Amino acid sequence: MNPLLDFSGLPKFQSFSPELVKPAIEQLIVDAEQTVAEVCAAPASPTWVNVVAPIDDATERLGRAWGVVGHLNAVVNSTALRDAYNGMLPTITQFWTQLSQNEALFAKYKQIRASSDTYALNTAPIGELSSAQKRSLDNEIRDFRLGGAELSVADKARFQAIQEELSTLMSKFNDNVLDATNAFGHIVVDEGELAGLPEDAVEAARELAAADGQAGWKFTLQAPSYMPVMQYAACHALRELMYRAYVTRASELGASAAWDNTAVIKRILELRAASSALLGFRNYAEVSLAAKMAETPDEVINFLSEMAAKSRPFAVQDWRELQAFAGEHLNMVEVNAWDVAYASEKLRQQRYAFSDNDVKQYFPEAKVIAGLFRVVESIYGVKLSRSTAQTWHKDVQFYDVRDHDGTLIGQFYFDLYARENKRGGAWMDDAINRRRIGGTEGNSGTVGTSDTSDTSGTSGRVQHPVAFMTCNFPAPVGGRPALFTHDDVITLFHEFGHGLHQLLTEVDELGVSGISGVEWDAVELPSQFMENFCWEWDVLQHMTAHVESGEALPRSLFDKMIAAKNFQAGMQFLRQIEFALLDMVAHTSFDVETDTILALAERVRHEVAVIKYPHFNRMPHAFGHVFGGGYAAGYYSYKWAEVLSADAYAAFEETGVLNAETGARFRREVLARGGSRPAMESFIAFRGRKPEIEHLLRHNGMKLAA
Ligand SMILES: [Zn+2]
Repeated sequence: MNPLLDFSGLPKFQSFSPELVKPAIEQLIVDAEQTVAEVCAAPASPTWVNVVAPIDDATERLGRAWGVVGHLNAVVNSTALRDAYNGMLPTITQFWTQLSQNEALFAKYKQIRASSDTYALNTAPIGELSSAQKRSLDNEIRDFRLGGAELSVADKARFQAIQEELSTLMSKFNDNVLDATNAFGHIVVDEGELAGLPEDAVEAARELAAADGQAGWKFTLQAPSYMPVMQYAACHALRELMYRAYVTRASELGASAAWDNTAVIKRILELRAASSALLGFRNYAEVSLAAKMAETPDEVINFLSEMAAKSRPFAVQDWRELQAFAGEHLNMVEVNAWDVAYASEKLRQQRYAFSDNDVKQYFPEAKVIAGLFRVVESIYGVKLSRSTAQTWHKDVQFYDVRDHDGTLIGQFYFDLYARENKRGGAWMDDAINRRRIGGTEGNSGTVGTSDTSDTSGTSGRVQHPVAFMTCNFPAPVGGRPALFTHDDVITLFHEFGHGLHQLLTEVDELGVSGISGVEWDAVELPSQFMENFCWEWDVLQHMTAHVESGEALPRSLFDKMIAAKNFQAGMQFLRQIEFALLDMVAHTSFDVETDTILALAERVRHEVAVIKYPHFNRMPHAFGHVFGGGYAAGYYSYKWAEVLSADAYAAFEETGVLNAETGARFRREVLARGGSRPAMESFIAFRGRKPEIEHLLRHNGMKLAA
């Protein structure tokens, strides 16, 4: 049997090989298409059992098999596997696109949902859907609508044409930024201009020049070249030249009119507004928020304005301190935009100098993992233990998560070390999602490893969730334990938070269990929440042991780490809020006929920024998140999720950060619920009220005077 078609339990990594991908995925797509066709053709009145369950079964098999292929492609890449993966990608994409546009299926989902309302009104017990099932259907129906499924034939064609033009324009926007970035190069011939730059940056610049057959040092607008100049180069003329090139990229002030994004931005905003109007929304922000936790554009704008007002005094103070320091120690009469990073770095060094490498000596791997597990076991009442399973590499570890009574809840793979042919970064991915199986026909294919002892209330077996947690930390060398930087430790806690969201779910329906169906602006709540423990003195005491002396992290070093974390937090906050406001206003009250994006950027800056931007700054022209990516009317999500996680953590601070009762409540009301109800309801159930922004400000050293 093709191991990718074997869904009994965990993935069969040891019998995997790239040539198995094509036949398995093709088979699963044929099966799924047949299921969809049968379901759509069935004359019986649609129910959860005869429509949603078989579709879920078929698409889950495809999703799980493809998930294994995608995972292996990321962590043990090879030419053969990459070819197999890329070879199937168009077919897979086409399958999902067709499914999301299947009108017969859409009609059936709507009928099931509507009949469930009828049942509810008549209070008839038979056939009534669970709230998770309703939520799952609501999500499906919403996505069909946002995809234009309810439009007239003519409007549908217009909607499609707009989507196509938009994707071309967004791609053009990114290409323009990329081309403008890549085209720039500045050669320094006077060695004196390099003063202050770190040696590796100078060496890299010399190599760049040499590669062009030139003498001297070449600097570019790529981050590894640009950032060190802004942060360290003492020569202000060099900083100004580089800054000007950077902030005029892809604008009418840039090097080439061919890369000017002015018209591209205007057209993107015009088309987004037009497609929103077709769908019956007032503006694009309303479309964006339809699948998010924030409900209205006004709610987001009010949230951002409140954050701006509360962090502004701290930003003003940061700015005054920087100006005073620059005047006194750096002989600067005024601090220009191109001086900010340089002067800030000097101030940071003077105040909080400590070496990341010193800190690292206190975080050997075993101590960190034990510290992480201690936190998780204390607050959630679960037990984490090493277990065995087939894996894709000898360094991969496998763990069981058991409840306090020994019941298996979930399992996870830890793939922690960087190595060749493994994609960089850190992430959590689902291998198997929790669902309840049985009692219905047509789902014999998905058995999974099951927990037969769980028969509470509902019939069927529980398929327990399994997660992949992947990081890229340095592996142990020369018999010494792997040492993690403090940033690595934060990353580990962050991904583990995503993992717990996936593993501690108690939802029975695939579409809304674990992280499935969780609103986009709420999905980082459990992960950012976990990061807080890495800044907790009581936790760090148990999580650190100097690799040679065995001593815990000293308090003095900890205090410096905290101070450095909060350095210029006010200015950093305002910068993010400025971008988020620009994004939100551009997609609500902005009129492309009478207004320009530059005038809008100017108004937003006038309202929130403390640093004076030069007149030539063209930041919107390179704002790829919003004009070239998926963050349109969504940039606020970064701060939104931080507020949620900081406020959730404050509940622990109030009761003791390892308090099991608070932990049980967080597990029950937030983690266990997954996407089965709105994130705001889960938050309120846990906290007893709506989120408050003060806790995030306090965690960043911005404590308001009482
Ligand atoms: Zn995350």
